[in-house]
Amino acid sequence: MRLRNVRGSREAIAANEFVVQEPESHKGKWNLFFGNNNPIHIEIGMGKGKFICQLAQENPNINYIGIEKYSSVLIRAIDKRKELEIDNLCFIRFDAEYINDIFAEEEIARIYLNFSDPWPKDRHAKRRLTSKEFFERYNRMLRRDGEVVFKTDNRLLFDFSLEEVAIAGWKLKNHTYDLHHSEYALGNVMTEYEEKFSSMGNPIHRLVAFR
Ligand code: SAM
Repeated sequence: MRLRNVRGSREAIAANEFVVQEPESHKGKWNLFFGNNNPIHIEIGMGKGKFICQLAQENPNINYIGIEKYSSVLIRAIDKRKELEIDNLCFIRFDAEYINDIFAEEEIARIYLNFSDPWPKDRHAKRRLTSKEFFERYNRMLRRDGEVVFKTDNRLLFDFSLEEVAIAGWKLKNHTYDLHHSEYALGNVMTEYEEKFSSMGNPIHRLVAFR
């Protein structure tokens, strides 16, 4: 993703009510943070936040945490969040490589990965959010009945991800190479990237993995 620096975004995020500062301090206690025992779903690499904002509005009994590495992108999600009168959605500016520093064992019920960066060079494979290294991280924080839901239009990344699911010892609940023309299309919430790429005619691939 090419990033345009948004001047002042880092400072704005540091003082924003929807962004959790020092997320490590909530490890193992996110339900206290939300003030209820509802399941927690997270999106890693949420970008400008359309997907998670819509899910949070539609599902008040689920707590949502959107994670994004870059302030310049997160600031766009905050703009959307400000419009919503809901209390089940917060954001974290954080590199998912260290995600086990912020979530304890069995703390998360579902992880969404949408149009994750492909890192096309083999030597960068470990950085892909669907690499076996990341599934090992997810293993340490997902509930027993938890799942990872991954969407992309990138066929190479999708095929890589299917392989990594198996290598990591996870299982596939379902998968499709053409989500929008599949039995799973109903209720699908589109991300910014999904809107862009599907409007160009690209089929959207999706897998749901569990342990
Ligand atoms: N999910 C959004 C969508 O579908 O419209 C954005 C997709 S964009 C290609 C990928 C996003 O993931 C970028 O905003 C990027 O900054 C973020 N990202 C990539 N690696 C990350 C990491 N290790 N931790 C957190 N966010 C990450």
